[in-house]
Amino acid sequence: MKTKKSKKQEKIYELDGANMDIDLLPKKNLSWKQDKCPWNVAEGKNIHKCAVKDVSICEYFRGIIKDDVVLCAYSVKK
Ligand code: SF4
Repeated sequence: MKTKKSKKQEKIYELDGANMDIDLLPKKNLSWKQDKCPWNVAEGKNIHKCAVKDVSICEYFRGIIKDDVVLCAYSVKK
């Protein structure tokens, strides 16, 4: 387990193994801006999810920063 100091000088713990449920699937009446999954865009579908609780993690998922920003390594083919 690593620790960091935040801007407020709080001690922040980095805890491994969270069981996450994260996706960028479009939803009606969402009250915040949401980007699209580039893999779903490339395939014209809405099936890929970043992390599915108790099931799987997308091979392109590289983590979360700034509360809700997905780090995604999917490379759009041209
Ligand atoms: S990690 Fe990237 S490719 Fe995978 S589901 Fe999330 S946004 Fe889509």
